[in-house]
Parts: sequence; C-alpha cells; structure tokens
Amino acid sequence: MIEIKNIEKYYASKGVKHYVLRHVTANIKQGEFVSIMGPSGAGKSTLLNILGMLEEPTYGTYDFLGEDVTTLNERKRIELYRNHIGFVFQAYHLIDEMTVYENIEAPLLYKKVGGSERASRIADLLDRFNIVAKKDLFPNQLSGGQQQLVGIARALAAQPSIILADEPTGNLQSAQADEIMHLFKKLNQEDGMTIIQVTHSEKNASYGNRILHIADGVVKEDVSVDRKEKST
Ligand code: ADP
Ligand code: ADP
Repeated sequence: MIEIKNIEKYYASKGVKHYVLRHVTANIKQGEFVSIMGPSGAGKSTLLNILGMLEEPTYGTYDFLGEDVTTLNERKRIELYRNHIGFVFQAYHLIDEMTVYENIEAPLLYKKVGGSERASRIADLLDRFNIVAKKDLFPNQLSGGQQQLVGIARALAAQPSIILADEPTGNLQSAQADEIMHLFKKLNQEDGMTIIQVTHSEKNASYGNRILHIADGVVKEDVSVDRKEKST
C-alpha cells in the first residue's frame, strides 16, 4: 500500500542543511497497524506528515496505492489525500465554531457526498462512538477523549484507505487514552483499517502489530508486535 524508498528531508538555514530524515525506506501493507517510535526530534512527525502528503520529502520516492506521490502536482495530491487519508491530530484540530455533527460532516461536504448519504454515515459514526447525545455540542463542551473521538469520526467519515495519527492520545488521561487505543485496535482488527500512529508510549504501541523505531534519520529497528495475549 505504501512504499517509501530513500526518503530524505532537510531544512536549510543560512546555507546549512539540517537533516531530519536521511534515508528512510519502508513498506507498509494494507491491514497493518504500525507505530512510529523514537526519541524526541527524531523526525517521527515529519515522516508521518510525508506519508500523509502534508509535507514533501527533499529526496526519495513515495508510492501510495501505486501512485508516485512525489511526482504529482498539488491538485492531484490534494485529491489523493481527500480520497484516501484520514489524519488524526494530537490536539484534535476540530473547528471550534462548528458542532460535533458539523465537524464530522465537513470532509463530506468537500467531497460533495450527497445529503442522505452524509446523514447516514454521520449517524453511524455518532452511534458507533457513543456520541449521539453530543452531536449538537461544540468542541469546547467536550472532554479531551470525546474531542478525539470526534476527530477520529471526522477522519473516518470520508471512508479513507488509511488512518494516520500523530500522538493521538498525547493530550489525554490514561483511561481516555486506552479507550482511543481500543478503538484503533477494533478498527484495525474488525474493519481491516490500516493505521499508522506516532507514539511515545510502549503501551499504545502494544495495540498495533509493528513498530518502526526511528533515530538519527533512519529506521533503526522494524519489529513485529505479538499482541495475542492483549486481546480486548
Ligand atoms: P519528532 O516528531 O520525532 O519529535 P519532528 O519530525 O517533529 O520530530 O522534528 C524533527 C526535527 O525537525 C526537529 O529537530 C525539528 O526542530 C525539525 N523541524 C521540524 N519542522 C521544521 C521546520 N518547518 N523547519 C525547520 N526545522 C524543522
Ligand atoms: P459498552 O461496553 O457499553 O458496549 P464500550 O466498551 O463499547 O461500551 O465503550 C466504552 C466507551 O468507549 C464508551 O462509553 C464510548 O465512549 C467509548 N467508545 C466509543 N466508541 C467506541 C468503540 N467503537 N469501541 C470501543 N469503545 C468505544
């Protein structure tokens, strides 16, 4: 599904190149739940943003569902993003002036999904995430965990091929964090959703099936996680 080869990313300042990623190569298959881990500043978010087409690498190739992302123009890349990527942010990034319902609906309006289809998809997500009663509230009237459920519902509304999540529980208490991780695991195992998360937490990573350790701009370790005894 994803093949990145020799991905490099640097920021130039005063003529000096500061390398964040040096040569990152990895393949991610459909149905995997991958955690990107590594020290602070290792380039985890940068890598996730590249995978999510929010940033461009300075070198290397990125093949997403058979398309070479690095050669696409802006319009094509946005289209690919909207059709396939569900991005979940640490700080939720909900629109404060919109209700829960409207936040989840926003990507469907972008994609020009028809009214009855929109309504039924949103109703399903509200129901599934137990937030039906919250649908007319605004983000600041919700707990952090509930806001993140809305963030995930919004990401899923457009029926993406993959969920990319940057420290999705970074702002949450541990009970709420576990709830979000259970939900991800369920999405992965029951719906076959491909998920890539950036996390500092070994516990969060244990919900997935593979860990990519990033350090010094390269993949230091690529290990599979045995989650047999951790079933819900
Ligand atoms: P991580 O997610 O592993 O903590 P990041 O990918 O956020 O790491 O950042 C890696 C490095 O890249 C950091 O040293 C950061 O300061 C630098 N960096 C990130 N974005 C920019 C930018 N827009 N301009 C310059 N440096 C940046
Ligand atoms: P129950 O045991 O009542 O079916 P769950 O274990 O499914 O409840 O969910 C417990 C809490 O997790 C709910 O209050 C809800 O806020 C949250 N949640 C929301 N969506 C899901 C989901 N898809 N899977 C698990 N938990 C969810």
